[in-house]
Order: sequence, then structure tokens, then C-alpha cells
Amino acid sequence: MGKNLDALLKEERIFKPDEELVSNSNIKQWMDMHGIKNYDELLEKSAANPEWFWDEMARDLVWFEDYNEVLEWKAPHASWFLDGKFNIAYNALDRHIKSGRKNKLAYIWESEKGEVRKFTYFELYREVNRLANALKKMGIKKGDRVSIYLPMIPELPIAMLACARIGAVHSVVFSGFWAKAFQERAKDAQSKVAITADGFYRRGKLLKLKDTLDEVMEHIPSLEKVVVVKNTHCDLDMKKGRDVYWEEVIQNESMECSCEEMDSEDPLFILYTSGTTGKPKGVLHTHGGYAVGASTTLKFVFDIKDQDIWWCAADIGWITGHSYIVYAPLILGATSVMFEGTPDYPDPGRFWEIIEKYGVSIFYTAPTTIRLFMKYGEKWPQKYNMNTLRILGSVGEPINPEAWMWYHQHIGNRKCPIMDTWWQTETGMHLITPLPITPLKPGSAVKPFPTIKAEIKDDEGNTLTKGGGHLVIKNPWPAMFRTLFGEPERYVESYWSKFPDTYLSGDVARLDQDGYYWIQGREDDVLNVAGHRISTAEVESALVSHPSVVESAVVGKPDLLKGEEISAFVVLGEEYQADPQLKNELRDHVRKEIGPIASPSYIGFVDDLPKTRSGKIMRRVIKAKVKSEDVGDTSTLANPESVDALDRAI
Ligand code: ATP
Ligand code: MG
Repeated sequence: MGKNLDALLKEERIFKPDEELVSNSNIKQWMDMHGIKNYDELLEKSAANPEWFWDEMARDLVWFEDYNEVLEWKAPHASWFLDGKFNIAYNALDRHIKSGRKNKLAYIWESEKGEVRKFTYFELYREVNRLANALKKMGIKKGDRVSIYLPMIPELPIAMLACARIGAVHSVVFSGFWAKAFQERAKDAQSKVAITADGFYRRGKLLKLKDTLDEVMEHIPSLEKVVVVKNTHCDLDMKKGRDVYWEEVIQNESMECSCEEMDSEDPLFILYTSGTTGKPKGVLHTHGGYAVGASTTLKFVFDIKDQDIWWCAADIGWITGHSYIVYAPLILGATSVMFEGTPDYPDPGRFWEIIEKYGVSIFYTAPTTIRLFMKYGEKWPQKYNMNTLRILGSVGEPINPEAWMWYHQHIGNRKCPIMDTWWQTETGMHLITPLPITPLKPGSAVKPFPTIKAEIKDDEGNTLTKGGGHLVIKNPWPAMFRTLFGEPERYVESYWSKFPDTYLSGDVARLDQDGYYWIQGREDDVLNVAGHRISTAEVESALVSHPSVVESAVVGKPDLLKGEEISAFVVLGEEYQADPQLKNELRDHVRKEIGPIASPSYIGFVDDLPKTRSGKIMRRVIKAKVKSEDVGDTSTLANPESVDALDRAI
């Protein structure tokens, strides 16, 4: 992959974990139970015997019938907990109903408008059962697909769990996607039933969800029924025989519904990846392994305890919400906050107000949100008492070290460790992540989770200990996806064919002298300047470390001489003015931080960068603009206006 700049990103700040947090942590207690003295020994022991580790973890869950074998690995196909009979919904609900957690809160839900709904485990269980019975009546059987197109309302997890309970496979489509995206996904999944809502409010504006579906329903031949939640009570056309109201179908249903005994390897859901890089892929996850992987990582990485209030501020339409708002916290019997609105509506204090109001103790969000708050300034979090916080988390993109520092200082009051978790829709669970016992470096996702064998490879397959390369995983893990729905060849080709029996993540990373991982971005985004591979994350982080810059995107522009030239687009903090002198200052700044080779040839000021609906910077679109090419499919873009703004900046 060419030469690498080892000098890039000289982060030297180290944050040691708090001793009390360490000694009380779930991971430390587990280590003590097994006579494991420290982090290195934990990694060694688990890597030496992954099946022992995961067997231990699986024993915390309820199996209708025990498994005979932990793992069968015929690369690239893994089966976990073979012949075990299991249901994830039983583990998320029933077993708590039979325990002291029956009347514990599972969800505290708050809408954009500030309405609050609370569900105990028992209440949630009953709602799930009623819908499960209604779905059965509609003819939904084990293995059938149900597409769910709901905003962040409690009916969303209820619908997912109802499907899981009866063995149906859910496919959630993010409610912020256009109807076309829904059509494409529901058609691909051949869903029989769609579950949606009349509409929802976004920044005070009514968005009619069911109406938009009406435009595409005819084009999904498999679709028989559409279940509609009365969320806003707006007017709609209901098509006779096809459309039914949720409230009506569950009305006379029993609050008991037997739980389907699934095979550990039976499919649980399909989730289409966000499409940052092309045609969405139907990532398929299963009941057993996924349940074990997702719950174990939440328990050890975020240290969830019974008294915690957990808030994962993602949308359930993404894998982060599937794993860490729905399944893992429920399996662990935790109390979660679920929030329907946007971070800065009605004002930029909204998130911090929620943390204060419910006493949130563990908070998980994305770098894009943190950078948004940096732009508004620390005056907003300062208004609220957030002393209940004990651990913070980040996911979705590399977190720029300066954003990490801001998060640490202004949200975590310098006392909360930040779990920068690297993982993907495909991985189902955190794969590279800190633990509460590990020292942290701002911008690094630290090391692989116990049992995970990560490596960095050059194009020829050599393992690198220095410089950047392909981030790969050498062994299977329980929550790994099993295939791409309907595209088994693409599963093999896209992920398992570059290097033998090795999972290709599609990201580029590098290791430092302490064995810490630094995710440098997507393979397609990495720059090649005069034979040097430069990561977008590093140049962007250097720009963000300048006081005037809150966010930036860096892309390459083909150059005859250098291979690629660096073009940077930056968003300035509210109190800064865009002027030519600042451009020079920023170039000098990058030169000082990284080196002359990384200094952008071009800098443009913009108000906003093109982002996916999950908040990730879409460099593909920026790159196309810089090269004056067609921008391609932009249906997953959250802010199409930003593309025109790029034109003006260029
Ligand atoms: P698509 O695969 O369709 O392009 P996507 O990759 O954005 O979509 P996800 O599976 O939600 O969909 O995101 C996974 C990707 O997000 C990772 O491959 C990585 O690029 C990035 N990512 C996630 N967490 C981190 C992290 N902590 N640090 C750096 N990058 C991260
Ligand atoms: Mg991806």
C-alpha cells in the first residue's frame, strides 16, 4: 500500500483509569473470579481459548436446550452454540419477569415534545406479547420477514421483540430514509408485513410517514399487511384490507404468547448498512451468538449495573440501536433512556437536560454529535448538573482527539473514561474497544475485545506492526453476521476473499508502540500523496485541533505530479470569520502538526458537511464534487443542501 507516515498523529496524552471504577467494574470482578491478574493476562488467556471465554458468557443466558458445541468454524462460515435452543426475546423479557426485575423500568422514553412514557419489564413483556399474537393472526410464521419503519417510539423495540418472539425476522429501516429506500429494502427482504406510524415530529414539524409509504407500497409485491401506529393522530388514507391500526389489532389479543424455541443459529434480523459506500447490503444476524456477543460487550465495556441509567443516544434504525438500545440492555435487565428527538431542539441543552433529569450514569453517542456541541460551546452543558455520569462512549467515526478532550472535560467533568468503540453493522458487537480497566489515549479505540484477533495487513497480506493498513479480524466471534441476505457470494467476495480465512473490515488502521489501535478511516477514503498514505482522520483531526475549526472533511483530488492533492473543507466555530488569512494559518497548523506533505493544497469554508443520516461525513460525495464528477446515489444523505454549498466553496 505504499509508504506510510509513522510520524502522523503524535498523541501523547494518557488517561489512567480511576482505581475505584476499576475495582468495582464488572470486568475486574470477572477477572478476579478467574484468577486473572491484569489486562494483558485477560487478553492472552481469552485469545488462547476463545471457546472457553464465550462458553462462560453464554452460561449467563437462558437456553431452552443446552448447546453441544460452542463453535464450528468452516471459514468463512461460523456456527455458534450448536444445537442450542434459544430465543433472544425470552432472554430480554421473560427471564426478568420471573425475577426481582419484573417491575423494574426497562425504558424511560421521552419524545421531542417532552412527553414521557415509562415501561417496566412486565409492561413491555405484555405489549410485546399482544403484538406477537396479532402478527401470528396475520399469518406471520417463523422465518417470515417483517419490515419496520418507525420513528424512535416505544413501539419500535416492541415490534422488534414481537418478531423475535415468534421467530419472524425483522428488518428495521431508519425512519429518516426516503420511501424509496424503504421500498428497495422491503422488496429485497420480501417482507409480508410492514409496521409503520402515521407520522412523527422533527424539529416541531410533522412528517407523515405512512403517506410516504403509500407511494411505494405497490412496488413491494410480497407485502400483505401494513400495521400503522397512531402516533400523531394525523389524517391518513387507510387502504381497506391492507392497512390496519396497531391499536386495533392488539386490542383483543392476549397478554400471553408462547415463545418460539429457535435454533441458536436461526436468523433474528436483517439490517441494511447505511450505504456510505454503495448498494446497501442486507447484513444477517442470528439469535444465539448475537445475544451473547452484544450483551457481553455491554456488560464489560460499559460496565452496566442494576442501578445504572443507560442512555445510548443512537437511532434504533442503526446497528448501534439494535445492539445497545434494544437487545443488550434488555438482556442485562438495565434501565435505558430512549429519546425520540434531536440533540439541539428546542435548544442545544436538550441532551444535557435529559442527563440531569433522569440521572443518566452512562452515555453513548457519536463524534458528529460531540462536534455539534463543541460548535455551540460549553456554556450549554455547564447549565446542567451531570454529576451522575460515570462512563462515556463514542461510536460511528474516528473521534478527533480534540473532540475527545472536549467530551472528557465538558461532559465527563474530567472523571469519566471514554469508551471509543470500533465496530460495524457486520460485527454486531464492539470488536476494538477500551475497557474500564484500560488507560486511554484520545482518539484511539485501544485494543481488541477479549478473544478478538485483529491485525493490520499490507496489500500483500504481510502483518504490519508499524504504519497503516487493512484492519482485519483473524477469528470468528459470536455476534458476527452470518451472510448477506440473498447474496451469499457477495458475503464471501466482499469480506473474506482478499486474505484467506480473514475478515476484511474495509477500514484502515494503525498500531502504535503500545499496541493501541488508531482507526484511520475507510479504505476508499485514504489519501495517497506522493506515495505516502495519509489518513483522512489524521488530517481532519489536525484541523480540528486548531481553535477555529469544529469539523472538517478531507478528500483527495487527482494530481499528475503528486498522485493526489489534499482538499479540505472546514466548518468554523460560531465566533470565527472565514478569511484568506485563516486559510494560511490552517495550512501552517497542519504542517506543524503532521508535516508539510499533509498540508492541504485547497481549503474551503462551509457551514455544514454532507453527512449520512447516521451522522457520518460522506467523503464520497465531496470527492465527486472536487473531481467535478456525478455525485451518484445521495438517497442516504441527511442534508442535501450541503452539496450545493460545496459547489459554492469550490
Ligand atoms: P456502509 O458499510 O454501507 O458504507 P457504514 O460502514 O457507515 O455503512 P456502519 O456499519 O454503521 O455502516 O458503520 C461502521 C463503520 O463506522 C466502520 O467500518 C468505521 O468506518 C466506522 N466506525 C465505527 N465506529 C468507529 C470508531 N469507534 N472509530 C472509528 N471508526 C468507526
Ligand atoms: Mg461499512
